[in-house]
Amino acid sequence: MKNGPVTFSVVAPIYNEYDNLPVLYDRVREVMAATGETWELVLVDDGSTDASTERIRSLAEKDKHVRPVIFARNFGHQIAVTAGLDYARGRAVIIIDADLQDPPEVIPDLVAKWHQGYEVVYAVRAEREGESWFKRLTADIFYRLIYRITDVKIPLDVGDFRLLDRKVVDVIGRMRERHRFLRGMATWVGFRQTGVHYKRAARFAGETKYPFRKMLKLALNAVTSFSYFPLQVATFFGFVSAGLAILAIPVVIYERLTGSQAFFGQATTLIAVLFLGGVQLISLGVLGEYIGRIYDETKGRPLYVVREAPENKER
Ligand code: UDP
Ligand code: MG
Repeated sequence: MKNGPVTFSVVAPIYNEYDNLPVLYDRVREVMAATGETWELVLVDDGSTDASTERIRSLAEKDKHVRPVIFARNFGHQIAVTAGLDYARGRAVIIIDADLQDPPEVIPDLVAKWHQGYEVVYAVRAEREGESWFKRLTADIFYRLIYRITDVKIPLDVGDFRLLDRKVVDVIGRMRERHRFLRGMATWVGFRQTGVHYKRAARFAGETKYPFRKMLKLALNAVTSFSYFPLQVATFFGFVSAGLAILAIPVVIYERLTGSQAFFGQATTLIAVLFLGGVQLISLGVLGEYIGRIYDETKGRPLYVVREAPENKER
């Protein structure tokens, strides 16, 4: 398909979503057809190991609205969405999960705000269905922690389900950092932003592709990408323990002069050594998180490797 003008691009990352794909396609098509505008559905296959890839290909053969981007391996959700943004041609781009937790029927609400002149319209989860208490609790803590310690005020209870104007997509496209936290990046760019409330549904089929390990990784990326707080914690502990030591010196001298038996013995020493050793190792680990990320950036590898993709690409 030649570069015709496209008004809306819907971008969905796909990682083993075989059973969700046909329903996703049907519901998106229905909603987008009702807008009366030109649209495309960019399906990014993030190294699926089930038959999702074939299903994406056959959807694309049947309907030219579907544009497949197929990765050479699994690169992770945030990178898959990034590729979707790179290939999207629309004047507005809607990012949506493939598991139908973000109902496509909310898209017209996002579009309405866009028509009012907003450049970022994010969907706020008013309610969540069918998620374990553990997932809810960790998500709650995560959003609030990020809000407290990062410099960008990322709105609470907002995932990647959102509409981005072309201007914003172009700016994010130029931010090629590899440890990506797209919500933070979309907030960072500025422009006029607003939210729309929606009820987050349960997964339509399959299981979450975000085990605790991946959530932790995302949280670490969010924190390190937008805050120096963990590095400052090390400085804080340094001052506190140095301060304690200085305060302790006159006390110990006094105790010794008065012949008291206090502060003799190995237990005190052991505790002090273990405490400081622990703090130092943790600080090293924190430094390591940042240095590892600097190293990854300096390697300058491409963000993702594509096996098959449509001809045109923005960058
Ligand atoms: N996903 C992906 N690559 C991954 C993990 C997930 O493209 O490595 C996709 C997945 O197919 C889905 C979206 O990212 O479309 C969100 O994943 P999921 O629903 O498993 O996350 P949850 O909603 O449980 O946080
Ligand atoms: Mg999901």
